[in-house]
Amino acid sequence: MLLTFLGTGDAAGIPVYGCTCPICTRAKIERRFRRLPCSALLEIDDEHILIDAGRMDIADRFPVGSLSRIFLTHYHMDHVQGLFHLRWGCNTSIPVHGPDNANGCDDLFKHPGILDFSQVMKPFEKQFFGDIHVTPVPLNHSKMTYGYCFSIQNSRLAYLCDTSGLPAATLSFLQNWQPDHIVLDCTYPPQDSPPRNHNDYTMVLNLADKFKSSNFWLTHISHKLDLWFKEQLKSLPHNVQIARDDMEISFSRN
Ligand SMILES: [Zn+2]
Ligand SMILES: [Zn+2]
Ligand SMILES: [Zn+2]
Repeated sequence: MLLTFLGTGDAAGIPVYGCTCPICTRAKIERRFRRLPCSALLEIDDEHILIDAGRMDIADRFPVGSLSRIFLTHYHMDHVQGLFHLRWGCNTSIPVHGPDNANGCDDLFKHPGILDFSQVMKPFEKQFFGDIHVTPVPLNHSKMTYGYCFSIQNSRLAYLCDTSGLPAATLSFLQNWQPDHIVLDCTYPPQDSPPRNHNDYTMVLNLADKFKSSNFWLTHISHKLDLWFKEQLKSLPHNVQIARDDMEISFSRN
């Protein structure tokens, strides 16, 4: 099982258009410091699962037949904007799974094109796709949002984005499930009070302390957080890493 980060930025991405901060200036010069819309690719045998579709080059990057399905965490534009072009393809169909949200985003449901939105996922209801088990878990965000818990044999990965903390039922599910890896929304540097729709670094540390044996990968990162990391961060807890675009997590199957 392999997870590749296709994007680790917040809605503005890095560089932020018009911004002259050191982080955005560096990213304009060196592409490896850019952060594209938050998304990832999970590969297990023949299953190639795209998690969120905010990148605008999905059609270029994934030739027909190379994507098994798409999981959407929620219908905010930075997580679905790539679908508005992809849907006008032909001679293929791609299942798109997401939360039960009657409105979706703009006219995606009204004019789905090649996208098949018929399989809505229910919270905490495990579904099987080949050898992989997927359980959606509700998150705290301004739109109905799912995290996804993926497991194959004894490897477990939770992808939790976008969220501010975790709902009690999701927290207790995860404590019972004990993920090996947690990919987590960390949009902001420490704030005076907890933000409503995303985690700040303080909230992430709280969660990392609750799951000491899980490896945390921080994503949905803003330029303000990258600047704070660069100027203020002394060290990370042993189980926390800052994700970057194109980074990979590989899992053994034991
Ligand atoms: Zn987002
Ligand atoms: Zn900036
Ligand atoms: Zn969002």
